[in-house]
Amino acid sequence: MLNDELLERYSRQILLPEIDLSGQEKLRQASVLIVGCGGLGSMIALFLAGAGVGKLTLIDADSVEVSNLHRQLAFRESDLDKPKVEALKNQLLALNSEIAVSTCLGRFGDDVESDTKLVGDTDMVIDATDNLAARHAIERLTCALAKPWVMGAAARLHGQVVAFSRSRVEGCYRCMAPSEDDSRGFDCRDEGILGPVVGVIAAWQAQDALMFLSGQNLEWGVLRVYDSTRQRIDRLVVTPRDECHTS
Ligand SMILES: [Zn+2]
Repeated sequence: MLNDELLERYSRQILLPEIDLSGQEKLRQASVLIVGCGGLGSMIALFLAGAGVGKLTLIDADSVEVSNLHRQLAFRESDLDKPKVEALKNQLLALNSEIAVSTCLGRFGDDVESDTKLVGDTDMVIDATDNLAARHAIERLTCALAKPWVMGAAARLHGQVVAFSRSRVEGCYRCMAPSEDDSRGFDCRDEGILGPVVGVIAAWQAQDALMFLSGQNLEWGVLRVYDSTRQRIDRLVVTPRDECHTS
């Protein structure tokens, strides 16, 4: 049960009929795996920690670089050269000491045994990586272990988000992006990225997670594409491909 202090802390979101007391309690019991702690992952983690998601697990292999600071606002100049998972964990616990944060210094997809345990122990996976190989690794494991996940990507002045359910009746990431060839993809190292565009996509992913974990249903398999130059959102429904789901 939530004590008086926690009721006050989360009062503004408990007021929402979509969350209410029961949703807040569900958030407190929930655990989320955030894959990648860059622009998307660091922002998503702040939203989820602030909202009172009980357990967050962070995985990332990188350290904080000076070129991250314009958009990865969870980090401070004093965090430079520190592993992102450690720097982010410190910020999350400074924001909310009621939650548990665990870290894994490594790249998702490199150690299947470890990744399987991370996914198996969580209620939802959030993709905050920057490459197709990691997303396909997330798709394989979450599909095998029947866990929902939310994909997000941002580069230049564009971004996209889509959520996949436990069952994948709506199709899956392979239906949408069958190729694991990353050579035609965008990379903010080469293409550039504007901080607020990352913020929009991270906020969408965090919102999907909070709504799902507090008991709401999501629009699974609907790809939302954001074009910040025109302030426009396009919605594309993923179509399940037979050859993907008959094997
Ligand atoms: Zn599929």
